[in-house]
Amino acid sequence: MAELSYREPDPKIIPGAKDDWELVIGLEVHAQVKSRAKLFSGASTAFGAEPNTNVSLVDAAMPGMLPVINGFCVEQAVRTGLGLKAQINRFSRFDRKNYFYPDLPQGYQISQLYHPIVGEGEVLVDMAPGVARRVRIERIHLEQDAGKSIHDQDPKRSLVDLNRTGVALMEIVSRPDLRGPEEAAEYVRKLRQILRYLDTCDGNMQEGSLRADVNVSVRPKGSTVLGTRCEIKNLNSMRFIMQAIEAEARRQIAILEDGGRIEQETRLYDVARGETRSMRSKEEAHDYRYFPDPDLLPLELEADWIEGIRASLPELPDEKKARFVLDYGMTEYDAGVLTAEIAAARYFEAVAEGRDGKQAANWVINELFGRLNKEGRTIDESPIAPGQLGGLLDLIAKGDISGKIAKDVFEILWTEGGDPARIVEERGLAQVTDTGAIEKAVDAVIAANPDQVAKAKAKPSLAGWFVGQVMKATGGRANPQAVQAIVRAKLGIE
Ligand code: ADP
Ligand code: MG
Repeated sequence: MAELSYREPDPKIIPGAKDDWELVIGLEVHAQVKSRAKLFSGASTAFGAEPNTNVSLVDAAMPGMLPVINGFCVEQAVRTGLGLKAQINRFSRFDRKNYFYPDLPQGYQISQLYHPIVGEGEVLVDMAPGVARRVRIERIHLEQDAGKSIHDQDPKRSLVDLNRTGVALMEIVSRPDLRGPEEAAEYVRKLRQILRYLDTCDGNMQEGSLRADVNVSVRPKGSTVLGTRCEIKNLNSMRFIMQAIEAEARRQIAILEDGGRIEQETRLYDVARGETRSMRSKEEAHDYRYFPDPDLLPLELEADWIEGIRASLPELPDEKKARFVLDYGMTEYDAGVLTAEIAAARYFEAVAEGRDGKQAANWVINELFGRLNKEGRTIDESPIAPGQLGGLLDLIAKGDISGKIAKDVFEILWTEGGDPARIVEERGLAQVTDTGAIEKAVDAVIAANPDQVAKAKAKPSLAGWFVGQVMKATGGRANPQAVQAIVRAKLGIE
């Protein structure tokens, strides 16, 4: 399989008042599993339903109710592990993590502490063409999401919505391999891209389908020892991830330069103030009293079953990007743009099939994506289908229309639709390659401009003026190479 070569980026250096500092970051990403039903019940996972309508007796923790594992969620976790080149653990088991919270009716969360379903893997985080950070994945475990406490609907009371209770989550834990806020954000972006390719999580951060706990520590520049970390909980956008890391690093550096010590603790990012504040210290840390859930059997996976899932994996972003660079001769940057979303990559390949790949890339990126972005549409909402754009490129390749006219046809396709060849024919947009017609137009321009003719004969670079005039006179439809040749011949320029 093709792989692009790269080097690791330099760590971000943060100048303090006294020293230069380096950042160390590790993330715990919570990704909701894309599945119609919850992890241990048949209730729907649909987002945005009326509060407490997607709640089964299991989710509500009615006495005596028993959880039943949703095999599809297990498959999705395995697929995710394989997509992250991770070890799949044939044996895993669910544990109870005990704590009290109003939106957790069971009084415990079912999670996997001791035997997670997925072991070590990796993610390549692209920072620039040829620059990437390899981030090791420590583990992925399956667990239940909690419900939601709603504090802003009643002046006196908090309300509880259990719709999210029991939705399957994958907690994806990275090693502390990231070295800057941008790297951390890019890591989440890459993870989200892979999950969306795999179709195991929709990656919708606004709806909370993907959220990150960010662990941050600092150390003097060049040090190889890890500093004490703080964990910032529940960040749901790339921007907040970067801001929270910056703010937390500044806080830790100020303490250390002041001769203080960092206390390991859990913190929250206050968006309004742009700073992190303490949620609970290590001393107040819960004792969750984890123990194997007696209601659930361990998961024992068949090797064949795992291999079947591996065989069904789609081509993933890194491989697709490398293939685009090698097969179509495009830049790594363009390949990155075209593979950002699997739907965009599919669209591009449909256009490029049997055509000039570089030209297809240009048109898809500059014209199509440019236009989609301007109107805030996704590739699935494109009014122009790949077949139409491909047809347009065929007309350019055959010399039927110039690139300039093609842009006009693109505009017609966008607003009115239709078949490109037909549009060109019906509206008389075909390029004039008939030399007789071009000669006539050149003769007319020459006859009308004797002064320019004299000047151009003395200074051949002025011939371009005639080409421009002829293009104008033919409404941009004359073949520019033909016009150029005829103008030069008629003016007697070599
Ligand atoms: P816990 O189980 O208490 O959450 P882990 O050892 O599993 O602790 O680590 C949780 C996260 O913290 C991981 O993503 C890991 O990469 C990160 N991490 C661990 N040590 C550091 C450190 N010194 N600085 C930054 N991140 C760290
Ligand atoms: Mg943790």
